[in-house]
Amino acid sequence: MPQPYAYLRGEIVPLEQAKLGVMTHAFNYGTAVFEGIRGNWNEEHQTAYLFRLREHMERLAQSAKILKMDQPDTVDRLCEIAVELTERSGYTEDVYLRPMVYLSGEVLGVRLHNVEVDNLIFLAPFPAYLPEVAHCHTSTWRRVQDTGIPPRAKVTGIYVNSALAKTEANLNGFDEAIMLNENGHVSEGSGENIFMIRKGKLITPTPADNVLEGITAASVIELAREELGIETVEREIDRTELFIADEVFMTGTAAHLTPVVEVDRRKVGDGTPGPITKKLSDLFYDTIRGKSQKYAHWCTPVRARVTS
Ligand code: PMP
Repeated sequence: MPQPYAYLRGEIVPLEQAKLGVMTHAFNYGTAVFEGIRGNWNEEHQTAYLFRLREHMERLAQSAKILKMDQPDTVDRLCEIAVELTERSGYTEDVYLRPMVYLSGEVLGVRLHNVEVDNLIFLAPFPAYLPEVAHCHTSTWRRVQDTGIPPRAKVTGIYVNSALAKTEANLNGFDEAIMLNENGHVSEGSGENIFMIRKGKLITPTPADNVLEGITAASVIELAREELGIETVEREIDRTELFIADEVFMTGTAAHLTPVVEVDRRKVGDGTPGPITKKLSDLFYDTIRGKSQKYAHWCTPVRARVTS
């Protein structure tokens, strides 16, 4: 039986003992940065592959830097702990690891300085996040921008913006929201980067379009270039370009690579996943489950530790 563990205040403890007080700064003010990391289960290998573990811990450190938080643990140490938690917890299915740097001080007052900081990590089973193909709409909520709360940092408080968009989409019968930035250009999904294909070119918004610089997106861009010879263009995208795009898909740690088959009740292409999306998707899923020798360095293998 899996037995979930968490890392809190410098110690690995059973998940049910990992508790925070009600005055915790991060809980009151959204002052935490976090990551999501997939442990992709490979039944044949009886192994979970942590996808781009180090890159996620590095982005966590960058998010902390933007918020001027000095995290206690190094990137190396956090990678080790992530592996140990996955081993000890013993899941034999897809999991999701949630590392965080959070203001742990139990003090009142809105600020980022002079408050204690801690690292935590927990993990939980996490099956597919989006359906196999997604029906999307353009959100009435605009993406937060760098001049307000920087979306380049994965700040917990920002996810109110995402949650507003996601709930609006779901309550209106859509699987996911596409958010525009304050300039009216396509930014990203509530928890995914977005790509479109027009005339054989892969196109995605620029990092200055108020997106999180996605690790899945970077991986897909590399796979497209290396394996299919398709370069990616980063440029501004208008909402109506999505209506006439040949193919659209979303990428993210939770969503993996999900084809978008409808935007604002208009079919993308013929309303089924297109040929480039399908090829990329096959390459991507093989890679993340540790089946590709060439991209083995993206995957950290973890075998469940058998405990008596
Ligand atoms: N944008 C947002 C807002 C996200 O929350 C995520 C998920 N972390 C992404 C994009 C995709 O990033 P990644 O591929 O690194 O998970």
